[in-house]
Amino acid sequence: MIRVRIAPSPTGFAHVGTAYTALFNYAFAKNKKNEGKFILRLEDTDVKRNVKGAEEAIYEGLSWLGLSWDEGPDKDKGEYGPYRQSERLKTYREWAERLLKEKKAYEDEGAIRFKNTGKDMVWDDLIRGKISFPGGEVTDFVILKSDGYPTYNFGAVIDDILMEITHVIRGEEHISNTPRQLALYTAFAKAHPKFAHLPTLRNKDRKKLSKRRDPVDLRVFREKGYLPEALVNFLCLLGWSHPQGKEIFDLEEFVRLFDFKRVRSAGPIFDTTKLDWINGEYIRKTNNDSLAKLVWEYAERKYPLEKVEEIIPLVRERMNKLSEFFTLAGFLVEEKPPKPLFLTDSYSANISGATISKLNNLPESRWNKQNLDKVLGEANRMAGTATGDFFMDIRGTIAGSSVTPPITESIEILGKKETIDRLKTGQKKFSK
Ligand code: GLU
Repeated sequence: MIRVRIAPSPTGFAHVGTAYTALFNYAFAKNKKNEGKFILRLEDTDVKRNVKGAEEAIYEGLSWLGLSWDEGPDKDKGEYGPYRQSERLKTYREWAERLLKEKKAYEDEGAIRFKNTGKDMVWDDLIRGKISFPGGEVTDFVILKSDGYPTYNFGAVIDDILMEITHVIRGEEHISNTPRQLALYTAFAKAHPKFAHLPTLRNKDRKKLSKRRDPVDLRVFREKGYLPEALVNFLCLLGWSHPQGKEIFDLEEFVRLFDFKRVRSAGPIFDTTKLDWINGEYIRKTNNDSLAKLVWEYAERKYPLEKVEEIIPLVRERMNKLSEFFTLAGFLVEEKPPKPLFLTDSYSANISGATISKLNNLPESRWNKQNLDKVLGEANRMAGTATGDFFMDIRGTIAGSSVTPPITESIEILGKKETIDRLKTGQKKFSK
C-alpha cells in the first residue's frame, strides 16, 4: 500500500508551495495503479513560529483546491496518529534513547547528537535519478534538542517510519537533508522510503517565490478571484507535462495520467500571466448560471443574484478573474453612482437636455436594447457629433469609465430612472 505525506509547518498562512507539493503527493497516491493514502502531518515543533489559525488555514487552503487527505490531525483513526509532531515528543525521546543505548548517539549539553558513520549516501531519486553524497558530508548532528523537541531531520524520519510512509515527495530544498535522514534509517536498520524531490517554484526573475515579492498565500488567490480548478491546473503544469501536450485539464485527469517520468527537475516558472490565461479559460467553460453564482459568492452575496445573472453574459468573455466582473460592471451593481468622466470635447452637445429628454420619453415598458439603440441613434444625430464621441460620453457619464460592457445593454440593465439620474448629474457637474 502506497502511503505518502506532506508535513507543512503551521507558521502562518497556507503557502502555494504546500499546495504544489500536496498536489503531486495526492496525484501519486490516488493514481489508479496506486490507490494509496495521502497523509497530512503538521510539523509544529518550532514552537516560537507556530501561529494561531495557521492549522485551519492549511485545511482550508487544501480543501478549497479539492486536495483531500485520508489521515491528519482532524482525521485520526488511531492507528498512526497523532499527526501533530508536538504531540509525539515521548516517541521521539524513546527512539533517540535507543540510539544512545546502541552508542549511535551521544549526549551533548542536554541535547542528543547523532554520531555520523562517515559512509557515502546514495539514493535513486524518482525525479532526478541517482544522487550521491560522499561520506563526511554528514557531520554529527543534533536529533533531540535540550527542550525535548526533535530536529526536523529526526522528527521526519521517525514519523515516516511509524506512519509507514513509502514515498517521500517534497521540495528540492530537502535534497541536502536526505543524507542525514538516510543515515538515520540505516542506524535503525529500516528500509528507507523512495524519494522524489520536486523542483523549486520560481518567479519570472527566476527567484524562489517569496512572500514579500510574490503571491504565495492561497487565500490571496481566492481573494483575487481565481478559481480553485484553474489554480490546480496551473500548478500541475509546473514541472509536469501532459502526454498529449494539453494545457487545460482537470484534477481527475492529472491523477489518472500522473507519472514521475513526466516531471522535469528544472525550475518551473510561476508565471501569473499564464495563470490568468488559464483562469480565463475556466471562466469561459463555466455556464452563465454557475458563473453568476461564483461571482455572487465571491462578492459575499452583497448584490442580488438576479442582477449578477443579467450582467454575466455581457462580461464573461472579457473576464480572466472573478474580480474583473466588478472592474467591468461594478457601475451596474454598486449602489453609489460612479463619478462621471468627461471624455470628449463635445460633452455638452452629447449629454444635453435634448439627449436626456429623448431618453425620458421612452416609457419604462419599452426600455430595452432595441428601442434604446434607436433613441440613442436619434439623440446622436440631433447632437450632430461623432458617434464614437457620443457613446464615449454616455459611457463616461453612466459608468465613470471609458471601458464598459456594450453600452445599450448596460443602460437597459441600469434602468430608466438610474440612467437619467446619472446623465443629469453629469450634465450638472459639467456645466459647473
Ligand atoms: N516541513 C517540511 C516542509 O514543508 C517538510 C519536509 C518533508 O516533507 O520532509 O518543507
